[in-house]
Amino acid sequence: MIRLEFAEGYRFMQMLQRSWTPLMAAAFAVLAGLAAQPAAAEELAKDLFGAKKLPAVAAPQSIGFYSTGCFAGGVAIPMDGPYWEVMRPSRNRRWGHPAMIGLIEKLSRDAAADGWRGLLVGDISQPRGGPMLTGHASHQIGLDADIWLTPMSDKRLSPNQREKMSATLLVDEKTHLVKEALWTPQHALLLKRAASYKEVERILVNPGIKKKLCDTVKGDRAWLRKIRPFWGHDYHFHMRVGCQPGSPDCKRQEVTAPGDGCDQSLAWWFTDEPWRPAKNPDKPKAREMMTMASLPRGCQAVLDAPAPSSAEAATYYGGASIAASAPAAVQPPVAAPEPAITDGAGALPASANAFAATPEIGIPLPRPRPGN
Ligand SMILES: [Zn+2]
Repeated sequence: MIRLEFAEGYRFMQMLQRSWTPLMAAAFAVLAGLAAQPAAAEELAKDLFGAKKLPAVAAPQSIGFYSTGCFAGGVAIPMDGPYWEVMRPSRNRRWGHPAMIGLIEKLSRDAAADGWRGLLVGDISQPRGGPMLTGHASHQIGLDADIWLTPMSDKRLSPNQREKMSATLLVDEKTHLVKEALWTPQHALLLKRAASYKEVERILVNPGIKKKLCDTVKGDRAWLRKIRPFWGHDYHFHMRVGCQPGSPDCKRQEVTAPGDGCDQSLAWWFTDEPWRPAKNPDKPKAREMMTMASLPRGCQAVLDAPAPSSAEAATYYGGASIAASAPAAVQPPVAAPEPAITDGAGALPASANAFAATPEIGIPLPRPRPGN
């Protein structure tokens, strides 16, 4: 059998040689030219990463920045845990760096002990991170997670409810102040607990929520430094973890300014300026235009890496066992110059960068997502 195939292959080669004409040579030249074109570089990164249903099997590694990157070795948080439920599961954004997934599970337990029934887990990342087809500017390196500011109810949500249940907005859209009837001390406790972890570098909340904490937190206020006001984030908070060991190409964000942030940088949010309509509301956002050339070089290897056999095989159960085998790390090519970080600034109200002293300059800018 093998010999026969070999013989046929040999005959095929002979035939090729006999029919080698200038015409074929020309055709080969055209094909070679096509292959040399960087077709993949032209494709949008959000389409390439958005199409990946499973993570890159490799040692865990975040590559690039929160708003310009990807990650390998991602694991999924299970749909259900004793103290959490995954929301909007059809989006397939329950993936993160194992440190992030472990931390969400820990937060769910600690918060339950504090009196918060359980977490409704929103978007984390796509299986291999990268820019998304819809939504966030950040969440690209497996180190950002959205947690709803509504606790689990005593009855498990059905898959349909997880897709459809509308979120409760805790902030009045006109005054930008917290709705007093909805705010509870447990909300403050949950945010304090999340901020207590050394891995967590920032927590983004609506300015109204930051103000509420500024006005009411007594005693230890050091943790308020991590709580950063930002657009949106009125039904969920956004927990951001710092670069983890084993990620030499993870780009750190700026250190937050000292102090509790209950100062003029917060007062700015209660002026008209941050809320003026954008001058160019239809201008494409950075994540919508990124190609592979916009991302760090290592992200191509992440895109090309093998997948585990199933999502279940890469689901993280309580830190004790990660089902996915972790063979050799994805080898990113030799370092290339980092692309400029473009953030989502173009998507923000025109005035967003007017005050250099505002807290979020220089960090990735998650877009407000009205209605979800
Ligand atoms: Zn977020």
